[in-house]
Amino acid sequence: MAKLGDPKETIAVLQKYQFRFSKKFGQNFLIDTHVLDKIIRYAGVSRDDCVLEIGPGIGTLTQYLAENAREVVAVEIDDTLIPILQDTLSEYKNVTVINDDIMKVDIAALAQAHNGGRPMKVVANLPYYITTPIIMGLFESHVPISSITVMVQKEVARRMEAGPGSKDYGALSLAVQYYAKPYLAANVPANCFMPRPNVDSAVIVLTRHEEMPVQVKDEKLLFAIIRAAFNMRRKTLVNALAGAAEFTLPLSKEEIEGVITSVGLDAMVRGEALTLAQFAALADAFSAKEGA
Ligand code: SAM
Repeated sequence: MAKLGDPKETIAVLQKYQFRFSKKFGQNFLIDTHVLDKIIRYAGVSRDDCVLEIGPGIGTLTQYLAENAREVVAVEIDDTLIPILQDTLSEYKNVTVINDDIMKVDIAALAQAHNGGRPMKVVANLPYYITTPIIMGLFESHVPISSITVMVQKEVARRMEAGPGSKDYGALSLAVQYYAKPYLAANVPANCFMPRPNVDSAVIVLTRHEEMPVQVKDEKLLFAIIRAAFNMRRKTLVNALAGAAEFTLPLSKEEIEGVITSVGLDAMVRGEALTLAQFAALADAFSAKEGA
């Protein structure tokens, strides 16, 4: 069985099966053993872990995971890869390959079946066309997951870990940081993949909070405020909220301003200056106004 990660072995497998890369599925396979070792290390994968891999491709990262974890469940959408995975993973008895779209898989049921309902670790070189929906889907559905260690576009990784004052700070930063602590672990150049993507990449580790950093009465309202604030980030928060379709509370501009100043913020503040805790305080103040 070929040990993948070595570009020669990857080419041999691709030729054997006359595999054609699919752009639609975001296929860029890893061909750098140092990067693969790093992913395992940063994810902290050990024999105690059941790992969920999203998009195993021809099984390169899967082989590394299988060598280090107790069990690996790998979900791959592309059916032409399934016979290849059966070949490249034939030696590993601790890997289950599921041919499905990760967006449609019942992950809680997987955790139940493979890990007795305990949290799994997610480790993946993600297809870039659906990075954000996959990560937010994992968080928002509250499935049992302790950490997510993923290869993403460098720019997306930066946005996930950014704080107020950075140009990369936005709705994605706040959404990710509401659920997890981000750590940008490594930058990865395009030549570590086959075919080479047009962008640089990075490995980011998202460790789920055991206790939420902020508690709000209405999570939906919190995220509606955040989205509205960053959809019009050049405007003051008052104007952004007053003009936003996603912020549907029936309040006048003056009333919005009153709520903003009631939590100690300046009437002219822009959303991009607010921390998660300040957005949470604001959401609760709007909830109180709504209930009044
Ligand atoms: N893990 C492999 C590697 O590192 O070499 C492949 C990574 S490649 C960037 C992304 C993989 O995700 C591809 O194999 C692609 O077919 C698969 N994929 C794309 N969309 C998917 C989805 N919705 N559900 C599951 N797998 C998906």
